[in-house]
Amino acid sequence: MDGRTNLFESVNRQFDEAADILNLSQEMRELLKTPYREITVAMPIRMEDGTLRVFKGYRVQHNGVRGPQKGGLRFHPDLVLDDVRALASLNTWKTAVVNIPFGGAKGGIQCDPAKMSLHELEMLTRRYISKLSMVLGPTRDVPSPDLNTNAQTMAWVLDEYGRKNGYQPACVTGKPLELGGSQGREAATGRGVALCAREAWTRLLGHDLAGARVILQGFGNVGSFAAKFLHEMGARVVAVADRDGAVRRAEGLDVPALFVHARTNRGTVAGFPGGEAFDPGTIWAQEGDILIPAALGGVLTQATAPEVRASLIVEGANAPTTPEADRIFWERGITLIPDILANAGGVTVSYFEWVQNLQQLFWDEAEIFEKEEKILMQAFRDVEEKVKRHGCTWRTGALVLALERVKKANELRGW
Ligand code: GLU
Repeated sequence: MDGRTNLFESVNRQFDEAADILNLSQEMRELLKTPYREITVAMPIRMEDGTLRVFKGYRVQHNGVRGPQKGGLRFHPDLVLDDVRALASLNTWKTAVVNIPFGGAKGGIQCDPAKMSLHELEMLTRRYISKLSMVLGPTRDVPSPDLNTNAQTMAWVLDEYGRKNGYQPACVTGKPLELGGSQGREAATGRGVALCAREAWTRLLGHDLAGARVILQGFGNVGSFAAKFLHEMGARVVAVADRDGAVRRAEGLDVPALFVHARTNRGTVAGFPGGEAFDPGTIWAQEGDILIPAALGGVLTQATAPEVRASLIVEGANAPTTPEADRIFWERGITLIPDILANAGGVTVSYFEWVQNLQQLFWDEAEIFEKEEKILMQAFRDVEEKVKRHGCTWRTGALVLALERVKKANELRGW
């Protein structure tokens, strides 16, 4: 696909492949595809230079039959409603794959946080929450961090929601620890990616993780923690690219040092002295075993998929692969562990945060990590069973599992 990939179209095509296996009726397909509620809000903000700007914000609640709507809040200049729809539906399937009692939602604001002050971002976040607060809440819809949002953003969400509704820490997850956040939440998504990579590389493909070569696109929250845990498990992280630069080292990069470098250099790996710089546009063609896209959606396409040399792809990002690229990987015998399984560690620990907030009793990091691993590995085996039964890709197997669970819940509710 060229230029801008339509994520919603891609996700629906993937949905149909799984629906075909399950022989789902047209009625059930329509029921499961159609978002429950979509909201667009306009937010006028007085900028620090005195100008008035009107920002657009979205929240799509895709499906809530299995529990409260759940999903991230992202800030991005190119965000459009169709992307939010696609990502909301992915979250419905994701929470079903890991079998936690949530539905799927997604929200976002069309803005460029790199060009805004902290104060402007705070005002924007508060406006957005105050306009949406009637459809949010611990039993309705629980936002969390996503692209360009973080624990500070979630703290503003908690505070703004609380102005009208009182103190309800379970209304948002990914909060700072000081405000009821959970141990292990920050690392959770990347850790889940690493666990899925380990499981696929060792048990499924029969290789040793020690020395396995890992290639990463993205070194934000997901990519950096995936690299950290894979490095600790003995893998070699040989190439990392982000928007501003890329660095490689065949013997393996010093991941702890890269971690510190990125955190002290506006989040980028560019300029890291412990490796050779290269063009980030060539990341897909780098020599390695395990490829982890952990940045934006729609990056593995008909154009880039043939370049890939790795034999395992683990999706840290949401929807990084187009259906055309999926087909190419399938034909080339490359195993791909899909987003709705591979990056579900984040929402899993968000679920633990929500539970801890409701009970007002907290668990330590070891307990969180143990619980996260148990849920993810169970989901991994559940998907594996579908893949074996239907002889399909891991993406389709994961969707078959999710569709069955959501369909069943729909039927039990009387739909
Ligand atoms: N950014 C993740 C998503 O929306 C967050 C999941 C969560 O923690 O709820 O997929």
